[in-house]
Amino acid sequence: MSTILNGAAYPPTLTEEETADLTVALRDWSLSHGLVIRAPAAVHPEDEASVHVPLTLHPSPFPKKLFDQARNLQTAFNELYAKVADDSKFLTEITKELAGVDDFMSDLWKLHLEVEEITQGVPTQPLSLGLFRSDYLLHATGTAEPSLRQVELNTISASFGGLSSRAADCHRFLQKSALYGSGPGSELLKDGTMPVNPSARSLAKGLGVAHNAYGASKSIVLFVVQPGERNAFDQRWLEYYLLEDFGVVSVRASLEEVAEFGELDLASKEFRYKGRHVAVVYYRAGYTPTDYTTPATWEARKTMELSKAIKCPTLATHFAGAKKVQQVLVDELVLAKFVPDNEVRDKLKGIFADILPLDDSELGKKARKLIGTRPEKYVLKPQREGGGNNVYRDKIPGFLKDLKDETLWRGYILMELIEPPQDVRNLIIRAGKVTEGNVISELGVFGCVLWDSTTHEIKQNFEAGWLLRTKFADSEEGGVAAGFGSIDSVLLI
Ligand code: ADP
Ligand code: MG
Ligand code: MG
Repeated sequence: MSTILNGAAYPPTLTEEETADLTVALRDWSLSHGLVIRAPAAVHPEDEASVHVPLTLHPSPFPKKLFDQARNLQTAFNELYAKVADDSKFLTEITKELAGVDDFMSDLWKLHLEVEEITQGVPTQPLSLGLFRSDYLLHATGTAEPSLRQVELNTISASFGGLSSRAADCHRFLQKSALYGSGPGSELLKDGTMPVNPSARSLAKGLGVAHNAYGASKSIVLFVVQPGERNAFDQRWLEYYLLEDFGVVSVRASLEEVAEFGELDLASKEFRYKGRHVAVVYYRAGYTPTDYTTPATWEARKTMELSKAIKCPTLATHFAGAKKVQQVLVDELVLAKFVPDNEVRDKLKGIFADILPLDDSELGKKARKLIGTRPEKYVLKPQREGGGNNVYRDKIPGFLKDLKDETLWRGYILMELIEPPQDVRNLIIRAGKVTEGNVISELGVFGCVLWDSTTHEIKQNFEAGWLLRTKFADSEEGGVAAGFGSIDSVLLI
């Protein structure tokens, strides 16, 4: 059996009373420090109530060596995806693969090309901002040492950086309050193994740096959000730090509101929202087809893209985060085009899982064969974001057969299943209820990159903290808001 704890007792055993005390302390700390999510609408239709975010009772163990490895890769990933986003020809080739099979991604690219045509290939705003998150699971089969495998890299709306800092603070508070007991395993919980996580402030810094680079002191950052967003407080923390650390005001609006109240000044190319000059547009919506409720919402995205505001992300950067792009980058020759440095390339390649296309190429044929012979080793992914879209293991052949015809298969990628260690247990507290079980943790590393998409010069590039999300081993997807996963923090071992 694959392990990371090597038999160490963790988490420490607690009496029923200790668990109850810990739960109350965790809940109250969360409620009093904004480690919260909006209560489900059905319970509180008036929208005023929040509940603590689903959270693990203990930080989950993560090997320090692999944690450092993931963090050290981030600036290279930032640079890679900035370069991919700037390569219109490369991305156009990829969209051809998705033409007719994925309307949403095709529409995004069409809009990008339309904007390119209007601006005659010279973007109104050369600066581009990426607030990325690269996600990893530990892979550990047999007796082999666990290693790092990338799940995906998100280039739009990467969430939980706001709450993640607080989750680490919460666990640190519980430890300092001596609430983790003194049983075996409690000795692992100490200041040095429970790092402070700077994600909230670091992401705000990314927005602040872009705002400064835009160079209009009274302008705002526009947070484009989903109406009724339950995870609004995660976003709020970025707004608060942006104000506190940079003196920059942010305003929230849905795509529909942007459609109604946003306008492009044709002479100056400034974007204004309710009359306020927008320096940076930060998308926490727009990554999923259902966000575009009317033609006017597409029009709103186009208008912002055409403006002088710095986009986080641009349409091209959004598209660069497609799973299809991730699959193509697994090919060493393709990767070499963007990462000429052998050493850096080896570092990145080292954490890639096998990903295959479902097209007519040789690799596509291989993928078909694998689906027929050993589907239990794979996960099938469409070009969607936000969780809950994948098809796992034995369900893959039937799912593909049910598609109207085989040409639609090209809209998916086939990815080798990562097999996380099986010896980790934790307790997850959700809506006050504690459940214990075997868990799997997914590490996300945030990255900020500001670059000039015309000269390809990188202006700022830094790692921006991390996120640990933990789910029970028997649930396939880890969506926190969707009701499967929880926020966690790392215990370095
Ligand atoms: P999304 O963009 O919707 O978040 P992901 O690629 O992150 O899509 O997949 C969602 C979830 O599915 C991940 O958080 C992870 O729990 C699980 N998952 C994805 N790829 C793999 C894989 N190769 N092996 C094991 N689990 C995976
Ligand atoms: Mg994603
Ligand atoms: Mg994901």
